[in-house]
Amino acid sequence: MEPALYIVATPIGNLGDISRRALEVLSGVSCIAAEDTRRTGQLLNGEGIKTRMVAYHEHSAPQVAEQLASRIADGESVALVSDAGTPTISDPGYRLVRVIQDAGLRVVPIAGPCAAIVALSAAGLPSDRFAFEGFLPNRGEARRRRLEQLVATDATLIFYEAPHRILATLEDMQSVMGADREGALARELSKSFETIRRASLSQLCDWVREDANQSRGEIVLLLSPARAEQDTTIDPALGELLVGMAEHMPARQASKLLAAYSGVRSRQLYDFLLERRGE
Ligand code: SAM
Repeated sequence: MEPALYIVATPIGNLGDISRRALEVLSGVSCIAAEDTRRTGQLLNGEGIKTRMVAYHEHSAPQVAEQLASRIADGESVALVSDAGTPTISDPGYRLVRVIQDAGLRVVPIAGPCAAIVALSAAGLPSDRFAFEGFLPNRGEARRRRLEQLVATDATLIFYEAPHRILATLEDMQSVMGADREGALARELSKSFETIRRASLSQLCDWVREDANQSRGEIVLLLSPARAEQDTTIDPALGELLVGMAEHMPARQASKLLAAYSGVRSRQLYDFLLERRGE
């Protein structure tokens, strides 16, 4: 095989999604740099591929990338694979790609599944413009801050999320983006319990709260783009209620509480309060 680093996408669930080209590359290269050699070993065994593996993961020392680069410079070919999907997408590898490029060597992508794109293709949300956000911060405060920065993004947003955080994240999205904002939850793509549901954030929250199965397995969350012209007027009665609440608690807390009940974004309520106070 031509000396190069081959970035090989592997299935995210259904093993039938491995491409013929991926199999040819995995059997033809001199060695496979794998995120988890045990997991990739299972894939290779199933396909009868006996290529040697070396570990390459997020904690690998920089020397490992240098060693792989010198092997390619010596005429060998190396494949990079992650546990599932496309390497370098919320997975290790981009530093290795840079080392190979900077050494003047070739990098060849072998296209295949990527959970973000698979989810987007079937979510029913606008796909002409989208932004991949990967994993949000684990902690609630940092997560809400990041969501606030994204609230006006005029593109479909794609997130990866761990199953045990899915409800908390959806609730934060509801509070920051508004209960009516449309989202989609894509779970266990290409596996037996594949589920894809598009609904308002409040409906998605209720659904996940009521059915524990919806917070199991691997999940991609998507959010529709911010509306071009958001209605920024607050109903007068709601405004008075908010002002009254803010007399008994901090403005941020009052805005958050009322957001959960009214469906109006907490940021919008908070801005209303600041404006009323002339701040
Ligand atoms: N590089 C991978 C890719 O191309 O999709 C992503 C790796 S990232 C560490 C793993 C995350 O991808 C999971 O936590 C989940 O959010 C998402 N994911 C992976 N496989 C999935 C599947 N079959 N269904 C839904 N989400 C999946």
